[in-house]
Amino acid sequence: MADATLELLKELTEANGVPGYEGPVRDLVRKHLEPLGKLSQDKIGSVICQVEGSAETPKVMLAGHMDEIGFMVKHITKEGFLHFLPLGGWFDQVLLGQRVVIKTRMGDVVGVIGAKPPHLLPADQRNKVVKRKDMYIDIGATSKEEVEEAGVRPGDPVIPRADFVSLANGKTYLSKAFDDRVGVALIVSTLEQLKSFEHPNTVYGVATVQEEVGVRGATTSVRAVDPDVAIVLESDIAGDVPGIKPDESSVELGKGPTVLIYDARMIPNIKLRDFLMETAEEIEVPLQVSYIEGGATDGAAIHLHNTGVPTVVIGVAARHIHSDSSIIHRGDYDNAVKLLVEIIKRLDADKVAEFTA
Ligand SMILES: [Zn+2]
Repeated sequence: MADATLELLKELTEANGVPGYEGPVRDLVRKHLEPLGKLSQDKIGSVICQVEGSAETPKVMLAGHMDEIGFMVKHITKEGFLHFLPLGGWFDQVLLGQRVVIKTRMGDVVGVIGAKPPHLLPADQRNKVVKRKDMYIDIGATSKEEVEEAGVRPGDPVIPRADFVSLANGKTYLSKAFDDRVGVALIVSTLEQLKSFEHPNTVYGVATVQEEVGVRGATTSVRAVDPDVAIVLESDIAGDVPGIKPDESSVELGKGPTVLIYDARMIPNIKLRDFLMETAEEIEVPLQVSYIEGGATDGAAIHLHNTGVPTVVIGVAARHIHSDSSIIHRGDYDNAVKLLVEIIKRLDADKVAEFTA
């Protein structure tokens, strides 16, 4: 039997869309949201899907960012190699040997990220980390002219080339861009489920742009929506891999979605946070607590909109985040949808007023 959720995650993560170049993934997001509500867009490209419930207010914003980390062609050397700018935060050690796709006006060009081979490095440098500025993209050309003939120009976006794989246990998935296509998928799945329920509010599912370069689409789309309450949907950092201490992250794959109690740019509204935790307990959805000292989410912009918006972040844990291959657990995804639907059903005017009382 076809698994619609698996197909959605595959389609969304395999789509291209680095910050500022979200076109391909945006088309896909629009296709999925079109049947679910009224679509609009802010002027830098965030997609907003308005779903009416039994009351006009409160306005509930669900936000997930559709951009993914990638690069941009910066400069072409006369020998035919490409220097690149990062779009978003990369863990530089995962870059070497990575295959990439350059989106040019003449079509896709495949390349690989290279650096000076270890055999040619002096002994004292061989064990050192190669810096990103010493790397380049090689498309197999032998001159600048060949690169230009392939259609490559400075300003072209560069995307990791990676496909979606359902892993051996059948419960975990490997792909690029779970940060944050998993959040975008959660919006689609939740709005689909909501069609079968009454909800005392209007829901705005928002796929934001340019989160990875400083929550830019959240900053503009929150003005378009002007929400009364917001739930940010994000990938979270799994701590269940070698070398991570519980006080750095105690989040494990398959143990439920997460609620973020702290990040570098937002402290969630505590009444909303507690409401979320109580609801999860009541409906028996496992929920993990997470804290990210060195990162932020779209919540950074959303909770400071106007005079402030009660905001919380729900996450799906991913291993190897900010690389081209991360892993999530299907159970965490399904539980996140279940929790979101229940929360939205309960967010009426009185409940939302309590968060700021
Ligand atoms: Zn993210």
